Amino acid sequence: MREAMLPVYAPPEEVFVRGEGMRLYTEDGTAYLDFIAGIAVNALGHAHPKMVAALKDQADKLWHTSNMFRVPAGEQLAEKYCANTFADQVFFTNSGTEAIECALKTARKYHWANGEPHRQEILTFSGAFHGRSFAAINAGGNPAYLEGFGEPMAGFTQLPFGDHDALKAAITKDTCAVLVEPVQGEGGVRSIPEHCLVSLRELCNETGTLLIYDEVQCGAGRTGKLFAHQWADGKADPDIMAVAKGVGGGFPFGACLVTEEAGKGMRPGSHGSTYGGNPLAMAVGNVVFDEMMSEGFLEGVRRTASNLQQGLASLKDRHPDMVEDVRGKGLLVGLKLKSAPKPVQQLARAKKLLCGVAGDNVLRLAPPLIATDADIREAIDILDACLTEAASAG
Ligand SMILES: *Cc1c(COP(=O)(O)O)cnc(C)c1O
Repeated sequence: MREAMLPVYAPPEEVFVRGEGMRLYTEDGTAYLDFIAGIAVNALGHAHPKMVAALKDQADKLWHTSNMFRVPAGEQLAEKYCANTFADQVFFTNSGTEAIECALKTARKYHWANGEPHRQEILTFSGAFHGRSFAAINAGGNPAYLEGFGEPMAGFTQLPFGDHDALKAAITKDTCAVLVEPVQGEGGVRSIPEHCLVSLRELCNETGTLLIYDEVQCGAGRTGKLFAHQWADGKADPDIMAVAKGVGGGFPFGACLVTEEAGKGMRPGSHGSTYGGNPLAMAVGNVVFDEMMSEGFLEGVRRTASNLQQGLASLKDRHPDMVEDVRGKGLLVGLKLKSAPKPVQQLARAKKLLCGVAGDNVLRLAPPLIATDADIREAIDILDACLTEAASAG
């Protein structure tokens, strides 16, 4: 019964009962091509045989002990993430929001441990999205998400997206950290150029400010590197990073990755989670990681992504009255439309293509990373027809 659900979402009528690879199926067997993947979550598509096997195998053995006992698969996965990123240590969570909470707490605790407890100010950017907890909505700064939830939290300041001078001016002796998505998701699929991330890193170095990336949406192979900031070749590594969504491939899990230095305030008792890093999540997480890092996988993502972006560019050429721009990076891309994207999203769904929307009139695409060239062609053809229809509907 829909009425029994707190109406914070407004889903369409379709009910999906099964998924396989790139496709979702309704009860009557109708197939939909999935180009949103639960918002960049199902990185390996639906019901990936290795993920299913790992989950079932673990389900037969052990579900939960809590972190009062060691979870070997978690230690293994943490080590893999550390070996392939800037990080030295990992804290596992159940969601992106919790990964952000851990990142923010770690950053403040760092300055506290350094004898500068006044350094509490977190700087973020317009269009940001960092989750739905109290801290996360204050970091995100979206008025619609803050409305009615009381006094804004102290210690968060939002700056205009892409304004390096404003950022420079805003950093004071009380600044704790800069929190930023290397590719903004919800705010309109806006990618930050690599040279800007490098300047950001330099500015943080000069001022002793911690750099926190939110790669909850753009990480996990989505841009064709394990993490989006890695396109800067080590010149723009963060001190702390929140990840989730794709790293679990559909099983709820996230993580906060830190350098040893940035994590130095965190001690037994500083933070915790009952479920974070539980054996089921870790079993799946290891499979997702191993698949993403398998020979040729990320290279395949880069090829597919360039194919998709070419397709989107062709849509912009063919529908100049509808499409303003192509946005994003890798397989996190969007068409910035000249009007609201919802009608196009609805037309696409009627033609059995699932896409998302984002802020700033963007139709958002984030297909599973296993999308083939044929899938891309099919999606572009459907969108082509939708844009034609939407234009004539005016
Ligand atoms: C989705 C998202 C979050 C929040 O993750 P949840 O798992 O929904 O808590 C945070 N940051 C970004 C960039 C996201 O896209």
